[in-house]
Amino acid sequence: MTDDIRLIDLYRARHRLRGHVLHTPLVRSPSLSAHTGDEVHLKLECRQTTGSFKLRGATNALLSLDEAARARGVVAMSTGNHGRALAYAAHRLGVRAVICMSKLVPSNKVEAIRALGAEVHIVGKSQDEAEVEVARLIRDEGLTLLPPFDHADIIAGQGTVGLELLDDLPGLDTVLVPLSGGGLLAGVALALKRASPQIRVIGITMERGCAMHASLAAGKPVQVEELETLADSLGGGIGLDNRYTFRMAQTLVDEVVLVSEDEIAAAIGHAYTHEQVVVEGSGAVGIAALLAGRVTGTGTTAVLVSGSNIDMALHRRIVCAQEH
Ligand SMILES: *Cc1c(COP(=O)(O)O)cnc(C)c1O
Repeated sequence: MTDDIRLIDLYRARHRLRGHVLHTPLVRSPSLSAHTGDEVHLKLECRQTTGSFKLRGATNALLSLDEAARARGVVAMSTGNHGRALAYAAHRLGVRAVICMSKLVPSNKVEAIRALGAEVHIVGKSQDEAEVEVARLIRDEGLTLLPPFDHADIIAGQGTVGLELLDDLPGLDTVLVPLSGGGLLAGVALALKRASPQIRVIGITMERGCAMHASLAAGKPVQVEELETLADSLGGGIGLDNRYTFRMAQTLVDEVVLVSEDEIAAAIGHAYTHEQVVVEGSGAVGIAALLAGRVTGTGTTAVLVSGSNIDMALHRRIVCAQEH
């Protein structure tokens, strides 16, 4: 194996993260167990502080910076769960965090990041212009860029979810992991495959515009057109100069399964109605895959439910639409 990230890095991350992130609950799902005939458990990262597992990677990366870099601060471009997690963790650790975004980002998202304690720089009308501001902050103010997935400390932090699964679910046969840039999948796969290579690790993503799926098929990182989807935390590319996650997905992951928009909506409704869990579209893809029968014969199964940050008016509409 040529992984630059080793199992020991995950254990170090777990040690570092103690007291900073929650060891989230793993609960048996009666409804999915009955539906599939397998023992299905939900790993509720939707109950993690800030509403997603992204707090693990962001906190681990901040705690891994040397003192001088920590004193200067960090910068990121995400308006989603990574941005939220980084804003929260940096504020708690007393580190300056600047989140750059374009004018197109809706004001409620801007306010949410600000409320968590980050500085927000709004620049230009496109992602590209925001990137120019990121480069300026790195050059002129010495800030450190913390990207959302393709970074060793981020991947190691996300991998601590896999260590918790190993502790909490002996006899685990299959794990279903939501997939976008692949930081979560790479980290979890590293933890599980090193412990027990026969555990099946399956990435789940949406049919509409998954760059990692297209890249694995092409044998190299490729770009795909970004499409609107209920799984909005799974959008975006993997980077044509991807350093870690593409190769780790290639070598550690058994398969990638796609789910449709209708299946994601059904899973959001199912989680709420049958499991009392509020989950965002991206967090529901594993449940969607099981409900739709897109993965079968999974044995003792852990479904990673990765986040809960959904607009509650949208959530209500999805749940109501399924009751009628
Ligand atoms: C970021 C995110 C993912 C995907 O994680 P990657 O490391 O980019 O693959 C899945 N679910 C939620 C809720 C997320 O915020």
